[in-house]
Amino acid sequence: MRVPLVIVGGGVAGAAAAALLARAGQQVTLLERERTAKPKVCGEFLSCAAHDHLVALGLDPAGLGALPISHLRLAAGGRQITAPLPFTGWSLARDVLDEALLQRATALGADIRRGVVVRSLEGGDRPRLIVDMMGEIEAGAVFLATGKHDLRHAARPVTGADDLIGLKTYFHLIRSEAQALKGHIELVLFDGGYAGLQLVGADRANLSLLVSRQRFAAADNDWFRLLGEICTENALLGTRLEHALPETDRPLAIFRLPFGFRHRPDGQAHLFRLGDQMACMPSFAGDGMSIALHSAARAAQAYLAGAHADAYHARMRRELRTQFLWGRLLSQLTGTHAGRALFMGAATTLPAMMPALARLTRLPRLAQIVQQVD
Ligand SMILES: Cc1cc2nc3c(=O)[nH]c(=O)nc-3n(C[C@H](O)[C@H](O)[C@H](O)COP(=O)(O)OP(=O)(O)OC[C@H]3O[C@@H](n4cnc5c(N)ncnc54)[C@H](O)[C@@H]3O)c2cc1C
Repeated sequence: MRVPLVIVGGGVAGAAAAALLARAGQQVTLLERERTAKPKVCGEFLSCAAHDHLVALGLDPAGLGALPISHLRLAAGGRQITAPLPFTGWSLARDVLDEALLQRATALGADIRRGVVVRSLEGGDRPRLIVDMMGEIEAGAVFLATGKHDLRHAARPVTGADDLIGLKTYFHLIRSEAQALKGHIELVLFDGGYAGLQLVGADRANLSLLVSRQRFAAADNDWFRLLGEICTENALLGTRLEHALPETDRPLAIFRLPFGFRHRPDGQAHLFRLGDQMACMPSFAGDGMSIALHSAARAAQAYLAGAHADAYHARMRRELRTQFLWGRLLSQLTGTHAGRALFMGAATTLPAMMPALARLTRLPRLAQIVQQVD
């Protein structure tokens, strides 16, 4: 079977690319393995750049239920610092966002096929996909947007920073704690990782964790035991969750996260990598969705201009350099007890530091490129 344009994966990156390419009049097919949009391991914090991209794509995040976030609260051990964000962030559950993006792509004319698993991708002059129930597909161009999941023959390299585990679950907070959390993203630093907490509904809070394998193993790979330990070490999280009810017995989990990865041009003219397949932001900053949306716009722009995929990958690498540098520095600094103490001390003495770091770990607002894709 031959098709002009295939997108593999219908998360933020794939769905946004499908919407943009369809809007530009391209015949585009998107293959997504899940039948319905599902919750994902994600802190669900939308930066201003991500919000701008969504609006430029024709979505109304607030109308979908997104909640504004104006402040960042950082906690390590017994210390806490609260600072205003230099922009308004938003909080929106991923199943809602992903579904809205897929529906937008459909409305613009993309052919969205759900429940279709792509097994492998063969490179070469024209990329070929091996797809369950569809067999072999030869595509004019492939946009690879499978997020954390690698396809056979197209896997990202091991980075050395991939001993991290991502865990996520929702909690229902008691009213006073939900009130205290409202409008804030709370980041809790602990030995072996960090946790992010923010509201996605009136009392429904997303708790997402990045934790080293070692730390998780030390808690016998037991989620509630690990959480209990972190809550004991950290007064803020302990208070928030003391009377909270988890939605599920077990968290969603994801392993071997290649943080720090940025794809290098590899000579394949018709294979465009998007989102986490293009680059995986070092932990802490929570800007992966913004990068995913940005990559979708840049890749669509490059494809429509007839550019080699390497030109797009090289451009993305350049645009992400500063952000990744800061993300890596922050991850390393806050990864040790002494570094965390230094960081918290500096942030207390210099109130402008946290807003400045929030800006430096973010992609600039470039939503106008969404308008330019046509
Ligand atoms: C713990 C944690 C917290 C995070 N918090 C934030 C945050 O607060 N804010 C933020 O901006 N970013 C955050 N991120 C990063 C963000 O979640 C990702 O960068 C973003 O989801 C990447 O989007 P994507 O479209 O590339 O991949 P995804 O959204 O993961 O989408 C990939 C899609 O591909 C599909 N797929 C996979 N394999 C196949 C296959 N073989 N065939 C067909 N379909 C397939 C999947 O079902 C999925 O729908 C966080 C990440 C982690 C791990």
